[in-house]
Amino acid sequence: MRVFIATDLEGVGGVLLDEQVGGDSPEYQRARHLLTEEVNAAVEGALAGGASGILVDDGHATGSNFIFDELHSEARYVMGAARPDWLPGLGEGFEASCFIGCHAMAGTQGAVRDHTMSSVAWHGMWVNGKAMGEIGLWAAMAGHYGVPCVLVSGCEKACEEAEELVPGIETVVTKKGMSRYSAILEPAEKVRAMIRERATTALGKAKTVAPYRVATPVEIRVEYNNAGYADEVRIIPGRERIDARTVAYRGPNVVEAFRML
Ligand SMILES: [Zn+2]
Repeated sequence: MRVFIATDLEGVGGVLLDEQVGGDSPEYQRARHLLTEEVNAAVEGALAGGASGILVDDGHATGSNFIFDELHSEARYVMGAARPDWLPGLGEGFEASCFIGCHAMAGTQGAVRDHTMSSVAWHGMWVNGKAMGEIGLWAAMAGHYGVPCVLVSGCEKACEEAEELVPGIETVVTKKGMSRYSAILEPAEKVRAMIRERATTALGKAKTVAPYRVATPVEIRVEYNNAGYADEVRIIPGRERIDARTVAYRGPNVVEAFRML
């Protein structure tokens, strides 16, 4: 069974603060290690569940977060910036998808580091009128290719967001947010053990969890944090300025609508 694993950094166990998600601080280097170990746990669990041909996407910021020489040897990895798509390779015939280290959508109270795409520029996103974050977008894009989303790890609110979208999805709560930048943390070893175990369980559900599909054609509305971001969007066919801060992007399906951004 071919498995696509998407990753982000904000939902990894132990990651809370700005200095952990970028820059050149020792804390960011520690966070990279924590992410890499969660990836390895997911790969181990997936292999135990019958996976082969695992592709793991390093999705945070410029896609250079994994510590390459510490990665599990039985998977392949997408890394680096200026990609052809948000989740490159997702359309290459996978049978299940997992999302490790993910965060809740912008505006979720009690979530750790909630945001959608950009804390600086984005206020929110709606897909066909439904408020969504990156978990929803991942699920919808996987659904476009007929791939079920079977496992999510992240803070408690991120897991709740996934469960609302995808009935039957397995989840691993890495931390329970007390505020945007504080949480009650599960220990790193326990998080890795849970990811390993539930990745195996999740792959057993690949035939029963339905792919999450959104109706077509698709409209993605992005409300930016101020009008300046919307002013910079050139209006061409497929894009419409809705109001000062909001632009609608349209396409025949969710993947192509997102390419309009
Ligand atoms: Zn991120």
